Amino acid sequence: MSLPFNIAIDGHSSCGKSTIAKNIAAKYNMCYVDTGAMYRAFTLYCMRSEIIKDKKIDIKRLTSSLDSIEVDFQFDSKRSISSTFLNNENVESIIRGIEVSNNVSIIAQLDIVRKKLVMVQRSIGKDGNVVMDGRDIGSKVFPDAGIKFFITARIDVRAKRRYEQMREYTSNILFKDILENLQKRDEQDTSRILNPLVKVKDSIVLDNSDLSLNEQNQFIYNTINTKINS
Ligand code: C5P
Repeated sequence: MSLPFNIAIDGHSSCGKSTIAKNIAAKYNMCYVDTGAMYRAFTLYCMRSEIIKDKKIDIKRLTSSLDSIEVDFQFDSKRSISSTFLNNENVESIIRGIEVSNNVSIIAQLDIVRKKLVMVQRSIGKDGNVVMDGRDIGSKVFPDAGIKFFITARIDVRAKRRYEQMREYTSNILFKDILENLQKRDEQDTSRILNPLVKVKDSIVLDNSDLSLNEQNQFIYNTINTKINS
């Protein structure tokens, strides 16, 4: 089965959007696109080439480098594993680190970066059957998405989840740094001028602070099944 519409998943940082999106992709055989990973990979490129240094951006060099930045994905729906490639290098784990997290919202607010990535995202979704997560999917990328979810959770719950996730592959991380990063990104992502994170009128809001994974999945799948059968 291939769904004739796209599903947009927006919401705050670290509230499980990508887990929801991967589960949907695996269950309904949809193509999954993690737009946060696109902005993260872009940011990594800018950090490595010192286009961003001490939070300052060299716009001129970024503009001339745009065509040399290529981001691709591979999604293994059986194992629910998504890998992000920057110019053919698998950068999945490095883009999740705190250094990239501390710079990504600065790069993501730039007009030239958003124009390029939104164009790529729209072209991936032009035929439907795509589940995409991010901040501006329901508002800007797919304003006509078949279903729009807005996911959120209390910040202490989100920070704890992210901390536990990161502790699995590094002991070199402090809870307070994660909490601070989430607070800063929430602030930057909701207050920026271009494509800020907003709850669009036709979105379905889900606060998963006190939900089990199973309860959350039931809610999501019921919503999708209702739409399919409508
Ligand atoms: O989803 P994730 O937390 O990986 O996204 C990283 C950052 O990328 C966000 O904090 C936000 O600044 C930016 N982003 C964005 N628009 C999107 C997806 C992510 O601005 N559609």
